[in-house]
Amino acid sequence: MTFDDLNLAPAILDAVRDMGYDAPTPIQAQAIPLVLEGHDLLAGAQTGTGKTAAFALPLLNKLSQQAAGKSKFGGKAVRALVLTPTRELAAQIDDNVRAYCKNLPQLNSTVIFGGVGMKPQIDRLAKGVDVLVATPGRLLDLQDQGYLDLSTVEILVLDEADRMLDMGFIHDVKKVLKLLPKDKQSLLFSATFSNEIRELANGLLHSPKSIQV
Ligand code: AMP
Repeated sequence: MTFDDLNLAPAILDAVRDMGYDAPTPIQAQAIPLVLEGHDLLAGAQTGTGKTAAFALPLLNKLSQQAAGKSKFGGKAVRALVLTPTRELAAQIDDNVRAYCKNLPQLNSTVIFGGVGMKPQIDRLAKGVDVLVATPGRLLDLQDQGYLDLSTVEILVLDEADRMLDMGFIHDVKKVLKLLPKDKQSLLFSATFSNEIRELANGLLHSPKSIQV
C-alpha cells in the first residue's frame, strides 16, 4: 500500500512526500479510506502510530473539496475541531496539520490552549479558522466569552480520549460536544477503552467503524 492508493488530493500527497513519509502506517491505511467515505470512527491507537495523519489527511482532503461557510461573526466558519488533552499535543497536531495543508492555501489551522495569553488566540479566531485544534478548558473559556462559533463544525476529532478522561476533562468535553451540530462526522481515538470511554463513544458516534492497531 502506498499513499497514492488512498485517493488523496495531489496537493496533500505532495505535502506528505515532503514530510518524508514513504508508506502509510497501519492506522493510516485503515482510517483514511473510512474517513473519506464519511464514516464515524472508533480507533484504538497509541501516540507514535501516525494517528495524527490518519485523521488529519482525510479531514483536510474533505474540507478542500467542499466550500466553506461563514461564521456568525462574519469570518470563516470553524469546519473541523480537534480536541486533545494537553497543550503539547495540541501544538504538535497544529504543526502537523499546517504541514499537511501547506499546498492548500484556502485552508488554515489554529491552535488554542490554556496557560498563555488569550488575546493572540482571540485575534486569530476573529480572522477565521478552518481547522481548530484545542484543549477543552480554553475552548470553553473563549466560547463563554463569545469569541467562538462551533455551530458550523463538520468534523470532530476526539484525540487521546482516555487521557482526556484521566485528566478530569470529561465534563468539559461533554460541554463542548453540546455546542456542536448533531449532523457531523466524529472520530474518536483512544489508546485504551474503559466503560467510560465506551459510554462516551456510544453517545457521540453513529454506526462507527472500529479499527485497532
Ligand atoms: P503521531 O503518532 O501522529 O504522533 O506520529 C508519530 C510520528 O510519526 C510523527 O513524527 C509523524 O510525523 C511520523 N509519521 C506519521 N506518519 C508517518 C508515515 N506514514 N511514515 C513515516 N513517518 C510518519
